[in-house]
Amino acid sequence: MHLDYPDSFRELVRQFRRLPGIGPRSAERIALWMLRSPDSKPDQLLSAISSARANLKICRLCGFFAEQEECLLCRDEVRSGRELCIVESATDILPLERTGVFRGRYHALGGKLSPLDGIGPEQLRIAELIERVGAEHPSEIILALGVDVEGEATAHYLAELLAPSGVPITRIAQGLPAGGGVEQADQITLHRALANRGVYGSR
Ligand SMILES: [Zn+2]
Repeated sequence: MHLDYPDSFRELVRQFRRLPGIGPRSAERIALWMLRSPDSKPDQLLSAISSARANLKICRLCGFFAEQEECLLCRDEVRSGRELCIVESATDILPLERTGVFRGRYHALGGKLSPLDGIGPEQLRIAELIERVGAEHPSEIILALGVDVEGEATAHYLAELLAPSGVPITRIAQGLPAGGGVEQADQITLHRALANRGVYGSR
């Protein structure tokens, strides 16, 4: 007889394996934790998931997390800057915001161009970006993208695409570790990278 876990345990492991960054061993460990936890921790996890599913949205303007149509950053009327800072992921926004250097708006692309993974411009929030640039006329577009291959390709693509808008395009790069992303950088590095941004693109 071929011995395997009971169906419901295998299904639990299978569902955990679908989560990003979770391999087979981790999936089994989490499933085991759920079964063994004597207290209400698994229930708290379930209710956090359903609450987030019910209440959390992606801001229709910038792509940051929101509990309304627009996020707190986009609804902040006293925010003075007219610069638009483009990042790969919604989770890049807070690290940049915490440097205190930047008072403009953000735009999260929801990823980076990666043809091998089937991620082209249509998979990212690029149409929304073009629309925003046309409507908001930012004073500057800052590309705060990682310096890995896909980040470079995305920056290059956006610089070409946005050049006709006439908005000056800069890029933070100095100080970011090679191959590194915004999310992993420490605050001092990010502060420096943002303050020392350079003109980007063909003009
Ligand atoms: Zn927003």
